[in-house]
Amino acid sequence: MDSTETVRVRFAPSPTGLLHVGGLRTALFNWLFARHCGGRFILRIEDTDRKRYDPRALPDLLESLRWLGLDWDEGPEVGGPYGPYFQSQRLPLYQQYARQLIENGAAYYCFCSPERQGNEDPTRMTRRGAATGYDRRCRWIDPRLAAERVAAGEPAVIRLKMPLEGTTTFHDLIRGDITVENSTQDDVVLLKSDGYPTYHLANVVDDHLMRITHILRADEWIASAPRHVQLYRAFGWPMPAIAHLPVVLDPSGKGKMSKRKKIAPDGRALPVHVRDFREAGYLPEAMFNYLALIGWRYDAHTEFMSREEIIERFTIERINPTAAAFDYQKLDYFNGVYIRKLSVDDLTERLMPFIQRAGWHVERETLRRIVPLIQERMERLDQVTSLVDFFFVEELPDYDAQLLVPKQADVAATRGWLQSAREVLARVEPFTHDAIEQALRALAAQLEVKTGQLFQPVRVAVCGRLVAPPLFGTLEVLGRERVLQRLDRALAKLAVLEKLSV
Ligand code: GLU
Repeated sequence: MDSTETVRVRFAPSPTGLLHVGGLRTALFNWLFARHCGGRFILRIEDTDRKRYDPRALPDLLESLRWLGLDWDEGPEVGGPYGPYFQSQRLPLYQQYARQLIENGAAYYCFCSPERQGNEDPTRMTRRGAATGYDRRCRWIDPRLAAERVAAGEPAVIRLKMPLEGTTTFHDLIRGDITVENSTQDDVVLLKSDGYPTYHLANVVDDHLMRITHILRADEWIASAPRHVQLYRAFGWPMPAIAHLPVVLDPSGKGKMSKRKKIAPDGRALPVHVRDFREAGYLPEAMFNYLALIGWRYDAHTEFMSREEIIERFTIERINPTAAAFDYQKLDYFNGVYIRKLSVDDLTERLMPFIQRAGWHVERETLRRIVPLIQERMERLDQVTSLVDFFFVEELPDYDAQLLVPKQADVAATRGWLQSAREVLARVEPFTHDAIEQALRALAAQLEVKTGQLFQPVRVAVCGRLVAPPLFGTLEVLGRERVLQRLDRALAKLAVLEKLSV
């Protein structure tokens, strides 16, 4: 590459479904490389496979990229000098270039029936990485005769003439030189009989016409690279630098991360599509940082980095060729760290949609008072509802009265402590965190019980569970009236329990 030329990279998804997190990682690495080099990040939509086209895909894609903050310099909605950026709008170009290859003898018309042609699904071919079995029968037809048959209206596809002998080598920026035997490659279809290009033709033509300097793409395309090398040669075009990114593995590390959701031990469906991560309340900041580390690292220990730091440090040399597993626990941990960094106002703002989604009508100001109580213990925004539900219900759902009774305490004693706590809480003035804390601690001392033993029944009485936000702040936000009501209900439950246990 000429040193005056700017780096131009592209993310080239096919709109066949919702954006997968692995796809977002590919986009991120391209974006990071462009921003690191002061280059251009191009978004190109490879929508020539009409059978697999999914109308939800494009809006989902644009929203997902924007969510992560990956802005594109050329592409849908922003345009650019090398458009259109939708392949379906470039069909005449591909047809013209395919004919050019026929004319210079690098490609040929094939009239075989689809059954004879073998499987032409580019992804299946790639996965197998080997010839699909087409026997090249039409390669030997006299080109003049073939042209006449086409002119007479006979349907035909156009195939690339792969060299029959020798090897093809390309240099992968991450993996080094890769060589394949040409005998393992087949004469790939470039243009289908309906005039639509295959992935191979459209991808190569566009990378050339859009002046792409570096191809950073998913590892699953590595088997297509030798065909692309031959295509660039056939056109007489220089090939962009190329790198295949390490595969993103399932959390188990055993297989490629699937497109289907898995169920976590706690019963929740683990997200795989970007939209689901967003809806589960992962922050884009955390996702950005975490995804950057799947297959790339700065050094052996640095994990938390700002966007700017990652951009500054992102080089291809630091991408690791070995596959990396997607670790949900680590992502949750990252997310928790990023949640704790937010201001109370910011977190409140981001939580509001989750509260609304739960169907609760909660004032922003009310939520703002609760946020400091839960900020420390959240790892995902969607946990908000289960953390704060007891603030918003008039009456707590039923809970097991046994939870009120601390270990090494009996029901009667617990009831006595809770009764005293009720008296204290009925009197304490003002009904604020500090005053409540002081009063309850004094009570524990007076009763000669450990604070934990006194606080547990109070906590369970007001929250309905053992693990809950910090107690004194919770009591303050709930307000005296609701606290006393809930204590009364707990006392009644304990009375029943006491009767049962004698
Ligand atoms: N359209 C291809 C995909 O969906 C692009 C592969 C490439 O980047 O060359 O992954």
